[in-house]
Amino acid sequence: MIRPFNFSAGPANLPAEVLQQAAAEMLDWQGSGMSVMEMSHRGKEFISIYERAESDFRGLMAIPGEFNILFMQGGGLAENAIVPLNISRGGQADFVVTGSWSDKSQKEARKYCDVGIAATNEGTAHTSLPAPATWQIRPEAKYVHVCTNETIHGVEFHELPDLKALGSNAPLVIDFSSHVASRPVDWSRVGLAFGGAQKNLGPAGLTMVVVRKELLGHALAICPSAFNYKTVADNDSMYNTPPTYAIYMAGLTFQWLKRQKQGDSVGIAAMELLNKAKAELLYDAIDNSGLYLNKVGKDCRSRMNVPFFLRDESRNDAFLAGAKARGLLQLKGHKSVGGMRASIYNAMPLAGVQALVSYLQEFEQKQA
Ligand SMILES: *Cc1c(COP(=O)(O)O)cnc(C)c1O
Repeated sequence: MIRPFNFSAGPANLPAEVLQQAAAEMLDWQGSGMSVMEMSHRGKEFISIYERAESDFRGLMAIPGEFNILFMQGGGLAENAIVPLNISRGGQADFVVTGSWSDKSQKEARKYCDVGIAATNEGTAHTSLPAPATWQIRPEAKYVHVCTNETIHGVEFHELPDLKALGSNAPLVIDFSSHVASRPVDWSRVGLAFGGAQKNLGPAGLTMVVVRKELLGHALAICPSAFNYKTVADNDSMYNTPPTYAIYMAGLTFQWLKRQKQGDSVGIAAMELLNKAKAELLYDAIDNSGLYLNKVGKDCRSRMNVPFFLRDESRNDAFLAGAKARGLLQLKGHKSVGGMRASIYNAMPLAGVQALVSYLQEFEQKQA
């Protein structure tokens, strides 16, 4: 079966091989007589799925031993509260606001701590990134929050800020929901990373949290037990019932990622090469056209989420209808930005981006 190419920002496309394996194992997981959905999370079958998923994620992402990996629920938005509940100690936390997601984060954190805005790109309508050297980080800040890929505005940090080099000892918190596993992470610069699974790892319902062990154990008294990182870590993410099926699906995606190869590169390194090639192809097509426009600065364009506009916005509906007819789905932009958005996550093959580029050119020629 040939499936259409799905450019949804999230929940997003998954590798066909992963969906096929899940379908084949749906009624009877590996001779157990049970669907993964029907298993006790404490039984040996599910424990083996969980342990493999955790160790594959650690290996793929090269996560050092001083970090815990937590499988949580509530998505990125719940983490906007869970992070300050766990690591702000009710003190100061500084935020770099670069788009809708980091803005939501700082607003939520105000319920739990004293929020400062270290920098913002509002002056450029979220199309640039403020240089780290200009950030105003308070000496007492308990952490600094950055959204490393703004899914709606299409702005990505291509290098993580080095807070130590900026004279701050605060841990860096990154929201990597929409580019997790698309590129390597320099863990030496990170205190805590969180991301919902539904963009790049699996179905909605699972949130990955990678946290330095030294940050555990300082939660505010009001922190719900199920959201206390130390409680979750001490119970191997099974203090309460974890999202078992979503963990299984993410585990299949981790296995798929491990199999990826580009030349001599494997796993995430291979994925990064492919993602670079896909993004370059699409941005070049947009930049070289007279009809399409991407407004984000070239140094911080996202490899995952590509917002673009038709210079003649009266053609938007015709563009989307023609795309759908060619099997190019969910290209409509976020309502707060308008225009179009192509999300080209790990599971989007090069052929999908090539098909989109051909359509962009064909649609433009028809207008001429
Ligand atoms: C999608 C997204 C979120 C929100 O995730 P939910 O699962 O809806 O809570 C947060 N941050 C970023 C960067 C996202 O892309």
